[in-house]
Amino acid sequence: MYDIHKIRADFPILEEKIYGKPLVYLDNGATAQRPRVVIDKMTEYYLRYNSNVHRGVHYLSNKCTDANEEARRIIQQFIGAASEKEIIFTRGTTEAINLVAYTFGEAFIQEGDEIIVTEMEHHADIVPWQMLYERKGARLKVIPFDDKGELRLDEYEKLLTDRVKLVGVAYVSNVLGTENPVREIIAKAHAVGAKVLVDAAQAVAHLQVDVRQLDCDFLAFSGHKLYGPTGIGVLYGKEALLQQMPPWQGGGEMISEVRFEKTTYNELPFKFEAGTPDFIGIIGLGEAVRYVEQIGRENIRRHEQALLDYATGRMKQIPRLRIYGEAAAKASVISFQIDGIHHFDLGTLLDQMGIAVRTGQLCAEPVMQHYGVTGMVRASFAMYNTPEEIDKLCEVLGKIEKMLNI
Ligand code: PLP
Repeated sequence: MYDIHKIRADFPILEEKIYGKPLVYLDNGATAQRPRVVIDKMTEYYLRYNSNVHRGVHYLSNKCTDANEEARRIIQQFIGAASEKEIIFTRGTTEAINLVAYTFGEAFIQEGDEIIVTEMEHHADIVPWQMLYERKGARLKVIPFDDKGELRLDEYEKLLTDRVKLVGVAYVSNVLGTENPVREIIAKAHAVGAKVLVDAAQAVAHLQVDVRQLDCDFLAFSGHKLYGPTGIGVLYGKEALLQQMPPWQGGGEMISEVRFEKTTYNELPFKFEAGTPDFIGIIGLGEAVRYVEQIGRENIRRHEQALLDYATGRMKQIPRLRIYGEAAAKASVISFQIDGIHHFDLGTLLDQMGIAVRTGQLCAEPVMQHYGVTGMVRASFAMYNTPEEIDKLCEVLGKIEKMLNI
């Protein structure tokens, strides 16, 4: 039984009024809200236990270290990883991808090698590879998508050669909502000896993500899109691969022994976690995952898919509204435009009515170029959104069309 009222009550911010109107929060793709249990858990640790992890012999330090490592185990189980050594904490998806681009790039990429990404990647899964190109001379190739927003797998096959060393693919597009067939993409990449990084930033809150079922080599996601804190994220990597990669940043915790002649490095996952981590953020993320599991990912998915279907049906009745991305497998994201209204104006007018959406290029300029637009409006739904909020969105969009007389 999906008790939406109880779920909404878990998120204090949903009680807020914006310009005197109830908040309708439809910007979950950018960041989701945090339930009270996450905020309480972090507050408890700040108030009662705060102390640096991994270095102390005293009670408080051990308490935080234990909670930090428990969160790692929770996340390991959440994504089906084989070992805690494969869970590396980063600042977010962006940092996780940059870590791989630097260290995998350092160990495995030579001049003339190729990296494949898709036309629908977020900038975070494009720019680090371009920077690698500048350092190492590896070429970037792109899998195009069709107008429905589905990847052209026939084109992908043509790009796959033994020069390809890595494929970077979004599990779910942050603009089009497309759920890409990553399992198939991974199997095909492995057949030519390439590794695959899955950008799961938009997937973990909506889908059952299992790294061993996917057989991905790397997977990255951010806490703040998963009802957890900001500034914390995860890089999953296969242990054998991580072992072969050099560390990224140097400093405390990532070392085994430091001598001026030579330093040796710590074991996994600490080799990649230089400096004091955001341990209270990590503890908060563990709590967020626990919360999501308690609601149940299958239940969340069912609820969000019903919202997506309902919103798509309603929005299609708005005469001048165009939806971008109509893939058969789609997560609860709708990017759109209304002919004759600038996306920024639309976002601003919706805001006046208490409705929070995202506008602009959505950190995916190639997708904008594909459709020849300068920006879009994006409504993205989470576990706590309701059909009534979609009614409100559609009612306001209808009024805006009328008001602007277009
Ligand atoms: N990848 C995708 C698909 C995203 O949607 C985002 C954020 O919107 C990112 C990467 C970057 O995430 P972060 O800014 O949390 O590092």
